[in-house]
This record gives sequence, C-alpha cells and structure tokens, in this order.
Amino acid sequence: MRILLVEDDRLLGDGIRAGLLQAGFAVDWTQDGRAAELALAGEAYDAVVLDLGLPRLSGMEVLAHARAARNAVPVLILTARDTVPDRIAGLDAGADDYLVKPFDLGELQARLRALIRRGKSQAEPQLAHGALRLDPAGRSVSWEGKPVELSAREYAVLHALLLNAGRVLSKGQLEEKLYGWGEEIESNAVEVFVHHLRRKLSPELIRTVRGVGYLIPKDAA
Ligand code: CA
Repeated sequence: MRILLVEDDRLLGDGIRAGLLQAGFAVDWTQDGRAAELALAGEAYDAVVLDLGLPRLSGMEVLAHARAARNAVPVLILTARDTVPDRIAGLDAGADDYLVKPFDLGELQARLRALIRRGKSQAEPQLAHGALRLDPAGRSVSWEGKPVELSAREYAVLHALLLNAGRVLSKGQLEEKLYGWGEEIESNAVEVFVHHLRRKLSPELIRTVRGVGYLIPKDAA
C-alpha cells in the first residue's frame, strides 16, 4: 500500500512517515503543495495524507485540483484548525476523512486502512486462497486456520500477489509496493521475502515465472 504524505512540518512528517513505514505502508513524503501535485500526477497512490497549511499551494488547492482532474484517490486531511467550517470545507472539497492535530498514530493507521478498503469499492474484508486467509483490516494471515507471523514487507508482498491473483507481478512492481522514495532497495529483497513466504506458508503457493516475476494462480481448491 503506497501512501503520499504531504506535510511541511519536518518533525511531524518524520514521525508520521516512521509510523506508517512501521505499519507496513510504503510512503512518499512531500513538503509542499506543488511537489504533492507532481507526485499525484506521476504515481498511483492507495491514499493521501494531506496537511492543509502548506508552502506554494495549500492542501485545499491540491485536493480541489486532484478532484478536478478526476483523481479519486482517498484523501485524509490533517488539520490543526479544529473549527467546523474548515472541516466542512475539506469534506466539500472532496476529502474522505480528516484528523485534527494532535492525533494518535494508531488512529491514523486504522483510518487509512478503512479508507483504502472503501476505496477498493467492493468491501472485501478477507482474501482467501485455498488454505490461506488474509485479513487486511487486522493485517493478519492464517494458513489452514493457524495464524502465521509475517513481517510488514512479507505481508505486503503476499497482499499484492493475492490482490492480483492470476497475474504475474514483476520484481519492480513488487518493489514499488514495498518502498517509498529514497529508501534503499537491496537487489534481492523481493526474492528473500518470497522465499520466507514459501517457507512460512507453502512452497507451492507463489510461482516464479522465470525472467518475468511472481504469481499466485487464480484458482485454488
Ligand atoms: Ca503545515
């Protein structure tokens, strides 16, 4: 799940970014409204966390422009302005949710998960594939009814492959879901995560398509 974080307060942005990374999101962080617009034009995000008071272009303008360009990405507004008119203006401009600063990081993570679920239109509380169950709300995975512990990135690889069951995802596509800008990507990271998933779940679950990528077949018993 890839998040665009737009926050000009370095300390706060740093904290939010760290919290989201820890929760398994990939995060791109921009610190002004113009940079946010460029990012939105160039990348497909699962959700946006948007501060309102920003240099160069306000959060409200970023939001209005995105909606005018028919970008339907879920947007959560962060605002220090705890006044009813500001909240109404944000929601009217096309925001999907808002949090008033200061807020709890756990609440931000939970609201983002809910927004992303809603954004995927068909509320799909659980993904199932043979003996495998994946619950995006609780970020939990089980195999034959037994819980399986996965790291945040192992989970992200599995989630991406399951959402795209029947389609091959390249190593590059998987890396995009795992890493934000400027994060160091080890060249064999995806291979390592797939190796762990096969060991923890089943050797047969994820197929390697030589020279192309990885695949979870569509039909499972
Ligand atoms: Ca600000």
